[in-house]
Amino acid sequence: MFDFQGRQLPETLAEVLDPRHAVLLAWDLQNDQAGGAFNKASLVETVPPVLAAATAAARRPVAADTEVWEPVPKKVTPGAFVAAPPPSDAIVLFDGKNLDEWVATQDKKPAAWTVADGIVTVNKAVRSNIETKRSFKDYQLHLEWRIPANITGEGQSRGNSGVFLASTGNGDAGYEIQILDANDNKTYVNGMAGSIYKQFIPLVNPTRPVGEWNSYDIAWTAPRFNDDGSVKSPARVTVHFNGVLVQNNVELKGETLFVGPPVYKKYDTAPIKLQTHGDPSPGISFRNIWVRE
Ligand code: MG
Repeated sequence: MFDFQGRQLPETLAEVLDPRHAVLLAWDLQNDQAGGAFNKASLVETVPPVLAAATAAARRPVAADTEVWEPVPKKVTPGAFVAAPPPSDAIVLFDGKNLDEWVATQDKKPAAWTVADGIVTVNKAVRSNIETKRSFKDYQLHLEWRIPANITGEGQSRGNSGVFLASTGNGDAGYEIQILDANDNKTYVNGMAGSIYKQFIPLVNPTRPVGEWNSYDIAWTAPRFNDDGSVKSPARVTVHFNGVLVQNNVELKGETLFVGPPVYKKYDTAPIKLQTHGDPSPGISFRNIWVRE
């Protein structure tokens, strides 16, 4: 059908055309051969690149491609909150007093989130994530987070933050464990609290009601890379959420991306990063953040 005067139109034509359109095009070509108005040379020269571009556009990934909406993890009521003061060999990243261990990801200037009453709250007016001054490889991390009782919005716009286990660049580059309200808040389950963003759904949902403190206890094994940038061994992570296992030594597929499949990018050591999400819901709070190498 696409053999026109000895010239083959590319395969992409057959791939992207609705069969009805293909029939119409074939009819147009025949009509042209019979003396119709089309300029044959022009048609053969211009159609293939246009269709190739259309094909590429049709295949360009969008955010929804990597959303998974089920199965929805079972809701589990966690036990009473257990205090987790830092052990003797921990590096304390936030003890309630200041953000001396942190900088703004964007420009490495002092982190400008709000510290008051022993907690730190995301400052949505400052459109930058914050990250540790120190860089880490493998570690154990403890942090506590709270969705404000007056939270608004829905889905990914309801208390969205996140902890990046390795910040490999500006913005959201790295490996994110999602933080989000998970109380009757419908969203893609590989993007709910306790998920490894767009890679692994939490085993269960042990979140606490808004206004109460949650904890993450994370064991992170950084990925190893060969000199040529290929992966020697992938990253692995175990996450306890309010004392409940939600990720069990899973092997990451790469950095956690909003759009497109995960990919690895070579790094050695990296800061730990907390997210300022762009949604307008009130900023969430953190406290008691410590790490053991
Ligand atoms: Mg997030």
